[in-house]
Amino acid sequence: MNDWPDGRWPRFPRPREDELFSSWLARLAIANGAKASLIATQTDLALGSNYLRSIDYIANESLLDCIAHRVGLSSAALWKTTLSDYLVHLSVIDTKRNQNLLLLGLIGFKKERFFLQYCPLCLRDSPHFRRLWRISSIVTCPVHGVVLHDRCSSCGAPINVFGNDEKDKRLPYQGEICICWNCGFDLKESPAVETSENMVKFSARIADATESGHLLLSSSEWCYLGAFLLGIRQLTHALLKAQSTRYPGVMYDIDMLPLDIRFRLIEEVVDALSNLPDSFLRICQRWGITPYRLKTLERTSGPLPYWLSSKVSLCLVPRVVATNQAEVAHAIQVMRSRKLKVNPYSVSRFMGLYKSDVVDKYFAENLVNKVNVEQ
Ligand SMILES: [Zn+2]
Ligand SMILES: [Zn+2]
Repeated sequence: MNDWPDGRWPRFPRPREDELFSSWLARLAIANGAKASLIATQTDLALGSNYLRSIDYIANESLLDCIAHRVGLSSAALWKTTLSDYLVHLSVIDTKRNQNLLLLGLIGFKKERFFLQYCPLCLRDSPHFRRLWRISSIVTCPVHGVVLHDRCSSCGAPINVFGNDEKDKRLPYQGEICICWNCGFDLKESPAVETSENMVKFSARIADATESGHLLLSSSEWCYLGAFLLGIRQLTHALLKAQSTRYPGVMYDIDMLPLDIRFRLIEEVVDALSNLPDSFLRICQRWGITPYRLKTLERTSGPLPYWLSSKVSLCLVPRVVATNQAEVAHAIQVMRSRKLKVNPYSVSRFMGLYKSDVVDKYFAENLVNKVNVEQ
């Protein structure tokens, strides 16, 4: 392979539709009877330890130039296979790590995370791994309407496209990349379980937006994909916190969760967004998610994006509890006895109200006695 004339490799499969760089690199290695690590080393892709796991992020344009030259492709075509290209649309806020993609790495320093999903029917159509399957909010296939898998359905091992190639130090892998590296099961044969139309539509909207960068909220409204995903993150975070007994010990971050939990959360998110703001309020009431909790969440993970907050802002304000003038007068009397400051705001709060027309009216009507009221 090193001595091939003009530096080109004998065979170079073209990237398939929405193919991940790692998937393409694994196929390139198999086609040339080489190991993926050898290709990475020859093209300076081998950066740091464990680079094959994070190769979808680290392949920058100059490295891609180097590999593109050897396969007769443009670096732009290869760039379209990277997650770096995806990230432009996936987030609207600056964060330490890339959000909205399933997280690589280990759980508890021993077990690998389930960071790559697949649709068995897509693998039957074309055995390659899609970039879309790395997005944490994607739990169904928008093409076939079935639930994705995030592990081998036979042995439960995480998906690793280089797994088979790494097993034998000397011999390159010659089989298909969709064969489980741990047990040899063909992932194409995993069960294809149909799901609801609304769940599929949700995935399809996100899938379309990975190209355009935005999605339609109604016939006249749109938002950036990053802002949409931020709203989904906030909602799933709130749902996880509210159901901590149902999901004990899990991280409150959708990027770190196994598929079964993410699926249930996304089902509720789809339900919550189905008919704003009533549907949102219904889900909040079901799980006891109070406005206070959502406000607390905003302090840690940023404000709710406008596309969501503009529709649910009324739900976020605690509803005014009906009261009457006599109760207001009594509250003021109690407050005075405790030497508390008396004004419409403090009285409302004292009575457990966010904003009360009755309290306002009491102060307005007693304005002539203002001195009296504020004593
Ligand atoms: Zn599919
Ligand atoms: Zn397996």
